[in-house]
Amino acid sequence: MKTHIKNLSLQELTDYAVQHGQQAFRAKQTFEWIWKKTAVSFDEMTNISAEFRQKMNADFIINSIEIAEEKVSSDGTRKYVLQLADGHQIESVLIPSKDRLTACISSQVGCALGCRFCATGNMGFVRDMDALEIHDQIMLLMKLAVEKFHTSLDNIVVMGMGEPLLNLNNTLAALDKISDKTTLNFSPQRITISTSGITSEIKKMADKNIPYHLAISLHSANDSKRKQFMPVGNKYSLSMLTDALKYYHQKTGNRITIEYILFDGLNDANEDAASLASFCRSFPVKINIIPYNSTASQLFKPSSSANIKKFIAFLESKNIIVNLRHSKGSDIQAACGQLAKNNTLK
Ligand code: SAH
Ligand code: SF4
Repeated sequence: MKTHIKNLSLQELTDYAVQHGQQAFRAKQTFEWIWKKTAVSFDEMTNISAEFRQKMNADFIINSIEIAEEKVSSDGTRKYVLQLADGHQIESVLIPSKDRLTACISSQVGCALGCRFCATGNMGFVRDMDALEIHDQIMLLMKLAVEKFHTSLDNIVVMGMGEPLLNLNNTLAALDKISDKTTLNFSPQRITISTSGITSEIKKMADKNIPYHLAISLHSANDSKRKQFMPVGNKYSLSMLTDALKYYHQKTGNRITIEYILFDGLNDANEDAASLASFCRSFPVKINIIPYNSTASQLFKPSSSANIKKFIAFLESKNIIVNLRHSKGSDIQAACGQLAKNNTLK
């Protein structure tokens, strides 16, 4: 079986190049194609001889991910079903807005946490993505950004399939590779990791002073309600979450984004807004209100626009920064929570 070329250090690649009659600097050029210039194929390496490119192509994989399907929304959003080497599939989304292009990436095949409103949660957990798969996914999306939108990526959000904090090392390894000054130098400020609230890992992120933004999928600031649609709340209560976020803020000084989907009649009343406001008193936050995107589940309905307005007005009256997010790509099942591929392969 071919090995992934990203497993080779520069020294190893140099030894390989020299063994195959190349000068050492060819290895450095190849290394730059891989880590700095988002190459997803050896063909792109135009300053390398065709013969050496063919040799490398015979010996190594350079990108382990293939595009299985592309869907384009009427709003311009593009969803990609991406196939991993073992046949499992993940989904990633490119989301254009007026002034920026955002990539939403996956960190796991499926998700073990089973949030009732989330299509990924309903498909269950298949496996973690490894660091190279996450990196390969980002390289592919960077390529597609240029090809389809004629621009480079502005933001990366780890909000696709999976719970990144349950695959933290691999997720960070991939993100660190693109934000490293010697590689792509992608600003950590433009990367957001979203979690349903795995408190032990939030503390680890604080201890390591991770430079990426942190977003919390809260959806209710009332424990018993939250547990009803987010089983993860049984293990990590809101008071544990508050402690972890206080700790995170103390250590990093970062503001935290709170994501809150408004479900009709479940978490959109005045008392829910009041609980949310008091949850947010312990650390600086920005709240993103997310309209519910329908999934196969019949249990949830989006809040009415009158209720959304009231909810937001209440929070603003408490001087909290609130943004109403507009869903993108829902016509192609590419919006938040709609990512689920038929992953029956084992
Ligand atoms: N597992 C992580 C990251 C992936 S989910 C997490 O839960 O944060 C990304 C975001 O999409 C989360 O805020 C999630 O709550 C939200 N989401 C899930 N299902 C949704 C739906 N049906 N409508 C709108 N947002 C949804
Ligand atoms: Fe997993 Fe996030 Fe979906 Fe919950 S919302 S099931 S944590 S992907």
